[in-house]
Amino acid sequence: MIEQLREAVCGLHAELVRYNLVAWTAGNVSGRVPGEDLFVIKPSGVSYDDLTPASMVVCDLEGNVVEGAHAPSSDTAAHAYVYRHMPEVGGVVHTHSTYASAWAARGESIPCVLTAMADEFGGEIPIGPFALIGGDDIGKGIVKVLSGHRSPAVLMQNHGVFTIGASAKAAVKAAVMCEDVARTVHVSRQLGEPLPIKQDDVDRLYDRYQNVYGQRSSR
Ligand SMILES: [Zn+2]
Repeated sequence: MIEQLREAVCGLHAELVRYNLVAWTAGNVSGRVPGEDLFVIKPSGVSYDDLTPASMVVCDLEGNVVEGAHAPSSDTAAHAYVYRHMPEVGGVVHTHSTYASAWAARGESIPCVLTAMADEFGGEIPIGPFALIGGDDIGKGIVKVLSGHRSPAVLMQNHGVFTIGASAKAAVKAAVMCEDVARTVHVSRQLGEPLPIKQDDVDRLYDRYQNVYGQRSSR
């Protein structure tokens, strides 16, 4: 199981590069080991081209390294905090993707003005508090904002994006969609004020997308 997850988490980092969400080594993906108090995360400071399944690091939910030759991502404490406090979460992603981080730099949530946002995020993409890296502050901010919120993405003020999902792949999808809508709403703003979607319609779109749309087995 851990070997499969090492491979999956390693492979998902290529998606961050493919969708242009990361520069240099900033950005990371982790996935919870099903049925265990462990998760697999990117090693710190290794370039995306050099990542291999074997170089992924296995940590416990306190963020201690259990298996791996490298130091884990410097964001490991934040990932660990989320896994400790949100048992339904199976994957966490962090990026500094450009447009989403531009909203974060202003401390401004992204209003729900696109049906695609209603589908994936169920409303606005919220802002989380300013927090310094190192301790539990980032993790606390993520959990506080996303607990009970429909959005799987939070814009941490002056920093960037954290997303959660039932799996690492779902969290990566949320990170890709977050950047996509951040960009579109930003562009729309250049030409005027985007129109809000009525809450009723947001609810209906969200419900349909989450429960009916697509191949359910692949979600
Ligand atoms: Zn960061």
